[in-house]
Amino acid sequence: MTCKILVTSALPYANGAIHLGHLVEYIQTDIWTRFQKMRGNECWYVCADDTHGTPIMLRAEKEGITPEALIARVHAEHARDFAGFHVAFDNYHTTHSDETRHYSEDIYAKLQAAGLIEVRSIEQYYDPVKAMFLPDRFIKGECPKCGTKDQYGDACESCGAAYAPTELKNPYSAVSGAQPVLKSSDHYFFKLSDPRCQEFLRRATREVCKAQPEAINKLQEWLGEPGENKLTDWDISRDAPYFGFEIPGAPGKFFYVWLDAPIGYMGSFKNFCAKKGLDFDEFWGKDSKAELYHFIGKDILYFHALFWPAELEHAGYRIPTGVFAHGFLTVDGAKMSKSRGTFITAESYLTQGLNPEWLRYYFAAKLNGTMEDIDLNLDDFTQRVNSDLVGKYINIASRAAGFIAKRFDGKLVAGHLAETFRKELPGLAEAAEEIAGHYEGRDTARALRRVMALADQINQYVDKNQPWVLAKQEGQEARLHEVCSLLINAFRLLTIYLKPVLPKLAQRAEEFLNVAPLHWADAGHLLPPTQLINGYEHLMQRIDPKQIEALIAANRESLEPTAAPAAQVAVSPAPTIDPHSPQRHAQHQQATEDKAQGQAMPAAQHISIDDFAKVDLRIARIADAQHVEGADKLIRLTLDLGAGGTRNVFAGIKSAYDPALLVGRLTVMVANLAPRKMKFGMSEGMVLAASDADGKSPGLFLLSPDSGAQPGMKVK
Ligand SMILES: [Zn+2]
Repeated sequence: MTCKILVTSALPYANGAIHLGHLVEYIQTDIWTRFQKMRGNECWYVCADDTHGTPIMLRAEKEGITPEALIARVHAEHARDFAGFHVAFDNYHTTHSDETRHYSEDIYAKLQAAGLIEVRSIEQYYDPVKAMFLPDRFIKGECPKCGTKDQYGDACESCGAAYAPTELKNPYSAVSGAQPVLKSSDHYFFKLSDPRCQEFLRRATREVCKAQPEAINKLQEWLGEPGENKLTDWDISRDAPYFGFEIPGAPGKFFYVWLDAPIGYMGSFKNFCAKKGLDFDEFWGKDSKAELYHFIGKDILYFHALFWPAELEHAGYRIPTGVFAHGFLTVDGAKMSKSRGTFITAESYLTQGLNPEWLRYYFAAKLNGTMEDIDLNLDDFTQRVNSDLVGKYINIASRAAGFIAKRFDGKLVAGHLAETFRKELPGLAEAAEEIAGHYEGRDTARALRRVMALADQINQYVDKNQPWVLAKQEGQEARLHEVCSLLINAFRLLTIYLKPVLPKLAQRAEEFLNVAPLHWADAGHLLPPTQLINGYEHLMQRIDPKQIEALIAANRESLEPTAAPAAQVAVSPAPTIDPHSPQRHAQHQQATEDKAQGQAMPAAQHISIDDFAKVDLRIARIADAQHVEGADKLIRLTLDLGAGGTRNVFAGIKSAYDPALLVGRLTVMVANLAPRKMKFGMSEGMVLAASDADGKSPGLFLLSPDSGAQPGMKVK
C-alpha cells in the first residue's frame, strides 16, 4: 500500500552560508525521502529559507541593500549548495511569500477567535539612537556574575551564567553602542499555558505524535505532571522596525520570526501544490490521512513539539505525525572551529573538489535515528570511504565488468540465474526487507553496516572463484561467464541498497548496467538473461588525504588580532545571530570560537558510542592469583567469565596487591583485547584498575562491581 507522505527539514536562516553542520540534517532527510520514493510512496520533501527578523534587517542595512535583495541572494546560494550535495527538495521556497503570509494571518486569526491570543505590556531594552527594541543578543555588557566585558544579553561566554539582559552591568546596544533604556510596549502572546493547550499536548505527546524516546522524555519534563502548569505563554510579536509580516489590525507590530518559520512549511507546500496540481488539504486538513514528518535539530524541539502542534490543533489544521530530532556535528571530536579550519562551508567543500557523496555516505554511516551528536573524524572519513565504497562496493563491478566486455560482448549469460544466485550468494536478495526496515527507522548506520557485510561476502566469493584464474583456464569459459554475471547482479543489488545515500553514483551505475532507474522492488528479481551492459568506467575515486589537508587549510582563518577578516568577525557591532533561529547553536558556537581562540583548553577527543561498544567489558571472578617467577610487577590471574570460560591474564598490580587476598573477588576485564604473548606465557585480556596519570604513585585500585554482579556479565 502506498502512503502519502510530506517531509520537511528545518528552514535555514537567510543570513549565512550552509556549512557541514547544517548538512547533517538535509542529508539525513534527503536519504529518508529518497528511500520513501524508491518504495513507491507518494512522498514530497519541501523546505524554504527562513527570512525574517532583526538580524536580516540589520545585515541588509549594513550591506546597504534591501532585506529583499539580501534574502534573494542568500536563497540562490542555499539552493546552489543543497543541489551540490544532491539534496533533492521537491520545493524550496521562502517564508517571505504570499503563501506564508496567508497561513500566518489565518492561524493567528483562528487562535485569536479561540481566545488563545492575549495582549500584555512588557518592559524591554530599547536603543534610543537606533529607535528600536533590542533582542537579547543585541545587548552587550559586563557579566553580572563574573564581570567579564562584552557579553551578550542572555548568557556569559566566560563563566556560562544565564541571565536576563536587564541584569547586565553597563549594558550597551550592539547596534549603535548607545546605552539602552527600559521602555514598555504591548506584545501579543500565544497562551500555551491555557488548559486546552496543556491537555492537548499531554495527549499528543503520549498518543499521537511519533518522536524518539529521549525526545518524549524531554517533552514530558517540559510538560510536567498532570495538574502542574509548567508551560509559559509565548511572545509572538515584535515592534517596528522589523523585517517580517505586520500583524493584521495591529499597526507597528510584526509576527515574530519564529511564528512564521514553521508556517513556512505550509507556505512552501502550498506553493508546490499550485505548480503540481496537488490538493493542499489532503496533506494539511484536519482530517488528513497523509503523514507529516519534521526533521529538526535537537535545539529546536521545543518549537516543533510544543508551540507548533498546539498552534495547528487550535487553528483547525492537522498535527505532525512525527518530529525527528538529530544531534549536532563535531569535527575530530570538537566543536567546529574557524581557527582549526573545521568550520567548513558546503561551498568550500565542493570548490575544493571533494565528492559530496563521500560526505553523504559518512554521515549516513554515523546517523542512527537518535539525538546523539555525530562526529566527523577526518582520518576515519578518508579510511571508511576508501575502504567501504571504493575497496568493497565499486570493486565488485570493476572486477567483473572487464571480462563481460572483452570475452562476452558485454552480455550476461543467457540462462536464468535466480537459483544459482540464491545458492552461491545466499541472503543477498533476501536482505532487502531488513535493510528497508533500517532506512525506515532512520538507522542508516545499521543499514550500511548490513550492506557492507554483504559486500564482504561478495568479495569473498570473488576471491574463492577467482575469475582472473578461470579466464586463463581451458574449458572454463561458461563458468567465467556465470561467475561474472552473478557478480554484476550482486553489484546491482548493492546499488539498490545504497541508492538513497548515493543517488548520483547509483545513476551512473544504472547507466553502466543499462537499466531504468532502480526502485526498491527491483531487489526482488535479477537482470534478465543476455542483458547487455555498458563499458565500465571508474565510478568513484579514492579520497586523497591531501584533499582533506587542502580543505582544512582553505577554511582555516587566522585569528591573530591584527588579521582583518577575523577581527571583523570578532568585533562586528552587528552579530549575524538570531537568538531564536534554528541556526542559533551553530552560529553561537562560531561566535564563541572566534572569541575564545588562544585560551581554549585542548578538547578531550570524543569517541562515539560505537567506538565504546567495541570494547567488550565483562565481570570476572578471580579464580586464582599467583606470583610470577622472575617478574617483579606481575601477578598471574586466572579469571572466571562464567559461561565465557576462564582466561589467563598477567596484571601489573603486584605493587598493590597480595595474590592470596585477590582470590574470589570480582573485577572488570577487557575480554576482547587481542591476546599478547609475554615472556611468561600468553595474556588473554586485561583487568581494569585506577591510578594516577603517571601510574607510579602508590595508589593502584582494582575495580569491583556492586554486589549481585555475576561473572560473565557485560559492562556497558
Ligand atoms: Zn560570566
